[in-house]
Amino acid sequence: MSTSDLQFDVIVIGGGHAGTEAALASARSGARTLLVSQSIETLGQMSCNPAIGGIGKGHLVREIDALGGLMAQAADHAGIQFRMLNASKGPAVRATRAQADRALYKAYVRSALENQPGLQLFQNEVDDLIVDGTRVAGVVTRIGLRFTARAVVLTAGTFLGGRVHVGLAHHPGGRAGDAPSLPLAARLRELMPRTGRLKTGTPPRLDGRTIDWSVLQPQPGDTPTPVFSFIGDAAQHPRQVDCHITHTNEATHEIIRSGFDRSPMFTGVIEGIGPRYCPSVEDKVNRFADKSSHQIFLEPEGLSTHEIYPNGISTSLPFDIQQRFVRSIKGLEHAQIVRPGYAIEYDYFDPRDLQRSLQTKAVQGLFFAGQINGTTGYEEAAAQGLLAGINASRYARGEAAWVPLRHEAYIGVLVDDLITLGTNEPYRMFTSRAEHRLLLREDNADLRLTPVGRDMGLVDERRWRHFSAKCDAIAAERSRLESHWLKPAELAAPEIVAVFGPAPTSNRVSALDLLRRPEGSYEVLRRLGLARDDVDAAAAEQVEIDVKYAGYVTRQQADIARAARYEQAPLPPDFDYAAVAGLSNEVRQKLLQHRPETLAQASRIAGVTPAAVSLLLVHLKKQG
Ligand code: FAD
Repeated sequence: MSTSDLQFDVIVIGGGHAGTEAALASARSGARTLLVSQSIETLGQMSCNPAIGGIGKGHLVREIDALGGLMAQAADHAGIQFRMLNASKGPAVRATRAQADRALYKAYVRSALENQPGLQLFQNEVDDLIVDGTRVAGVVTRIGLRFTARAVVLTAGTFLGGRVHVGLAHHPGGRAGDAPSLPLAARLRELMPRTGRLKTGTPPRLDGRTIDWSVLQPQPGDTPTPVFSFIGDAAQHPRQVDCHITHTNEATHEIIRSGFDRSPMFTGVIEGIGPRYCPSVEDKVNRFADKSSHQIFLEPEGLSTHEIYPNGISTSLPFDIQQRFVRSIKGLEHAQIVRPGYAIEYDYFDPRDLQRSLQTKAVQGLFFAGQINGTTGYEEAAAQGLLAGINASRYARGEAAWVPLRHEAYIGVLVDDLITLGTNEPYRMFTSRAEHRLLLREDNADLRLTPVGRDMGLVDERRWRHFSAKCDAIAAERSRLESHWLKPAELAAPEIVAVFGPAPTSNRVSALDLLRRPEGSYEVLRRLGLARDDVDAAAAEQVEIDVKYAGYVTRQQADIARAARYEQAPLPPDFDYAAVAGLSNEVRQKLLQHRPETLAQASRIAGVTPAAVSLLLVHLKKQG
C-alpha cells in the first residue's frame, strides 16, 4: 500500500446505521472518506426489528432524507409493508413506518456505499486510535494497518465490550453471530471521561411455516401505500405482505414468571439499564402484573425467508422458558424457534462529553454517533451519523460545524437533549420531546432542510430539481386558490351551502378562505370542483396545512424569535463563571460540569434557574 492509500480526510469506524450515513454524508460533502467495518457482509444490518420509522423516528428518517441521506430510500426499496401511523390525528404526529425485508435493505445500503464517489470501504476491525497530543490522527486496524485522517467518526454500536445474555449463560459478542470490539473498548475507557453500561434485547425468531396463521388476525398495510423518501415512488416498493396480531395470556405469564430466578435481569447478572419504552416481556409481566395479556405483532423478516419477528416478546430468559412461553401463545402452539432471544450489554459514553457537532470534548477531531452515545434505534443512530459525518468533513476542511437548532429539526432536538441532559437509559425519539413540533412535521422536512443540505453539498441535482418543482407547485396552487373568487351567487349553490352553511356575508370569498374554514379541506375543494386535478398531492397537502395551522405556526415562530437572543449568545469553552456576580455555587458547578455552548443550552440544564440565566445574560451584555 502506498502512503496515499492510507491517508484520508475522514475515517468512519463501523458500518451500521450511524456509520453508513456518516460515511455517505462525509463523502458527498467532498471529503476523501474511508469506512472501516468489521465485515463488509454486515454493512447496513438491522440488529433487531426489521422496521424503519414510527412516531418520532419517522420524522428523523424524513429529515435524513431531506438532507440527501440514505435511510428513507433504502426503506422504499426494501419495505414490504407501509403504514401511516396517527393518520387521523394532526399533521405534527403523523408518522410513516415501513416493515423491511432485511436482506433487500442491506443490499441497497451496500450498493449505495460501493457506488459513492470519494468513499472507500475496508473490512477489518479497528483496535486503536492514533492520538497526537489532544487530537486524533487516525486508526490502527487488527492487521496493523495505520490509516491517518484529520477526523475520525466512531459508530461502534453495541459492540464495545459487548456481552450477550441468554438466561444465566453469557459470552462476549457484538450482537448474535458477531464478535465484540474489545481492544478499542479498553482504549476508549482510557480516553473518555465518563463510560457506562446499557443493555437492550431482542425476541426469539420463529419459523413461519410452524405458525397457524388461520387463527390469527391479519394486519395489512395502508392503501395507497405510503412512500418514505421525498424523491421516492410506490413503484419502487417490493411485493407487499400482511403482518399478523396475537397476544400473550395468563399461561404465558405464568411460564415467564417461573423463569425469573434464571433471568439475568432479575438476578443482577446484567447491570446495564434497558430501554424503558421497549421493555422485555419479562419486564412487562413483572411491572404490569395486573395485565393478563400483551399484544404481539408477527412481522415477516423478508420475502425470501420464512423467519418471523414476534414484536413484543423481547427476552433474555433461558431458552427452555422461551420455547415454552412462545408455545403457550395462540397460533404459536407448534412454533419452532430459529434464533433464541437474547439481551446484550455494551459500553456507552456520557453524551454530555460531546459538543453540539458530536465532536468529543476530550479528543479534537474525534466524533461519536449512534448507540455509543446512549441512544437506541436505527433512526436515532442514522440521524447522528449524518450529523457527525457532515461535521467531520467540515472539520477536516477547517469549516465551522453545522448545528441544527431545536426548532429546525428533530436532529437538533435529539442532539441537544443528549448533550445537555445526558441519559442513563437508552434514549429514543418521541414527538413529545419537541416543544415546536407543529413546525417539525414529517411532511415539511424537505422545506426545512433541503436548502441547507444543498448549501453543504449534500443534495444532488435530481433531488434539488424535485424540491424546486414542489416549491413552485405550492406557490402556484396557493396563489391560484387566493385569486379564485366566489361571488355571493356561487356561494349560495346548494353543494357549497351543504358543506359550509349559508353564505355568512354578501362579500366575495376566495377558494383559499373556504379551505381555511373548519369544514374546508383540499378534498372538499376537489369535490366542489374548486381544486385542479393535476396538482401534486404533496404540494396540495402543504397548502392545506399552511392555511389551516397558520395561527399556531405564527405563535410558535414568535416564541422562537423571543428565545433567539439566548440561542445566539455563545458561551466560550473558557467562559469564567466565577466572574458572574450572584450565581449560586450549585449553578456554577453545573455550568462548569456541562460547559454549555450557548445561553439557550445553559437554560435547559436541570437546576440552572431562570434567575441564573438572567445573570449570565447581564454579564454577557456587560462584556459587550
Ligand atoms: P450498529 O448497528 O450496532 O453498528 C455498529 C457497526 O460497527 C457494526 O457494523 C460493527 O461491525 C461495527 N464495528 C463495531 N466495532 C468495530 C470496530 N472496532 N472496528 C470496525 N467496525 C466495528 N433498537 C431499538 O430501537 N429497539 C430495540 O428494541 C432494539 N433492540 C436491540 C436488540 C439487540 C440485541 C441489538 C443488538 C440491538 C437492538 N437495537 C434496538 C438497537 C439497534 O440495533 C441500534 O440502535 C442500531 O443498530 C444502532 O446503530 P449503530 O450504527 O449505532 O450501531
